[in-house]
Amino acid sequence: MKMKVNGKVWLVGAGPGDAGLLTIKGKQLLESADIILYDALISTEIMSLIPSETEKINVGKRAANHKASQDEINRLLLEQAWLGKKVVRLKGGDPFVFGRGGEELELLVENQIPFEIVPGITSAVAAPAFAGIPITHRDFTSSFHVITGHAQFGHAQFGHAQTGGNGKIAFDALVKLEGTLVFLMGISNMQMICEGLQAAGMDKEMPAAVVERGTCAKQRKVVATIGTLCVEAQKAHIQTPAIILVGRVCTLADQFTWAEKRILGGKQYITTRPQRRSSQLTEKLRNLGAQVIEMPAIRTACICKNEQLQKCLYEIGTQEFTEEWLVLTSPTGVILLWEEMQRMHFDIRNLWKNGSCIKFAAIGSATAQELQVRGIIPDIVPDTYCAEDLGKKLAVAVDKRARVNLLRAKEGSALLFPPLLEAQIRYRDIPIYETQLAENTLLTEQVIELLRAGEIDAVTFTSASTVRGFVQMIESEIKKEVNAGLGSAEAEGGLVDYRKLSAVCIGEQTAAEARKYHMKIHIAKEATIDSMVTLLSEL
Ligand code: SAH
Repeated sequence: MKMKVNGKVWLVGAGPGDAGLLTIKGKQLLESADIILYDALISTEIMSLIPSETEKINVGKRAANHKASQDEINRLLLEQAWLGKKVVRLKGGDPFVFGRGGEELELLVENQIPFEIVPGITSAVAAPAFAGIPITHRDFTSSFHVITGHAQFGHAQFGHAQTGGNGKIAFDALVKLEGTLVFLMGISNMQMICEGLQAAGMDKEMPAAVVERGTCAKQRKVVATIGTLCVEAQKAHIQTPAIILVGRVCTLADQFTWAEKRILGGKQYITTRPQRRSSQLTEKLRNLGAQVIEMPAIRTACICKNEQLQKCLYEIGTQEFTEEWLVLTSPTGVILLWEEMQRMHFDIRNLWKNGSCIKFAAIGSATAQELQVRGIIPDIVPDTYCAEDLGKKLAVAVDKRARVNLLRAKEGSALLFPPLLEAQIRYRDIPIYETQLAENTLLTEQVIELLRAGEIDAVTFTSASTVRGFVQMIESEIKKEVNAGLGSAEAEGGLVDYRKLSAVCIGEQTAAEARKYHMKIHIAKEATIDSMVTLLSEL
């Protein structure tokens, strides 16, 4: 008899928004889950850590004026676990801090579904920290208290709160505690909270602050007193999600401002390189304080069981050519070439077995670097990363009786050929991988919203194909929006205006592609990741 195997549910806290504040366990689960049910408050940066092929359901999204109810979410969790899946229930901050995590567990326990809890950093602690407000401080306070400012979570009578009454928040008790008070979900009840505290005897000069979108690139803070906070927050158009802080520690906010002061503090970027190549750029930008959404716009697929390549490798030096060149035009090309050689069980020493002279060319420093870690220092690297210059450099360096093997992408630039043809150099173009367009509907939808809101400071492009892929991802989602009967694109918030978009390009060819969409072009001085990072820091 076959046993039914149940899956398992992980209740995971995603933290307050900054991807660096996700726990290691949380990140591992995002990368390995079969399905992820997530809430509205999860930042796009964190969503972009999830592999594009992982099934994702947004249970916080209002579809046709209807948000998934708690019952529906519970049922969905159960169903997916019954299917034997590894289910991640992803929640903003910590799952048990006003996250209804407890309710979701009840049904799991009842049905004996195994589960684990992965705590997250709650916004109650992280948002003050990023605003430069120590939540406790020996000189000011020795406790802090986290309170919901939302009726739904209070007692039944709390409903009065919205009409301005004292509701059920025990303001008297809170005031007596003399600790730092942190109100979550309190923005719409801010006035009631500030007045309630004063009515319970708190001095209207008591420092207070609001921190909106704490830890995120677009974080904002307003520092005032409980007497003036409402007016000041209104002036600044503070919106949810935000926390309200009350206590003398708020006076330190200016002195301790730090998040915005980072070189790339307050910046939000999109990177478009294929996932396996993007982390270096992303990491450097995040280290300088930026939020980075990884949106791979192309996928590189190895041409496996590559007979043409096999023939090339075994043939090298066996014929009339005494000098043979292997030309690599991207780091990905080097990586995939070695992977394919491994699959073929090809020993690199075979290249030299006929005593011929083997030479290597790399298009740029990153490609050269990949060769070097494999023990090969390329014979030529052009000064500028571009196919045409590589061709010219080869035309000079290559012996007339040599043969050149171009090991590169199927759609590689044709600009490489003319200099070789002119110099009458014999070459073979051998595709070792293809670039394909990427797809990631949910992430693209979120990115479109951010683009429309003007919240993306720049998009980085490392090849013309990433520009094409990016635009295609955006356009096909917009088309779906329109086709779904949501009216014209204009009615749905408009098309994406690329003219407002800063495109940071690795080189001239990439920029030429971005120019077609009238993006605001910035070109790195050198065709390197470091140079792109420097450029972004200077913008
Ligand atoms: N479990 C979450 C809280 C969920 S209740 C946590 O531990 O953080 C939702 C409330 O959390 C919001 O109304 C807001 O008050 C607060 N919140 C969540 N993310 C926030 C952020 N990045 N900045 C400020 N407040 C945030």
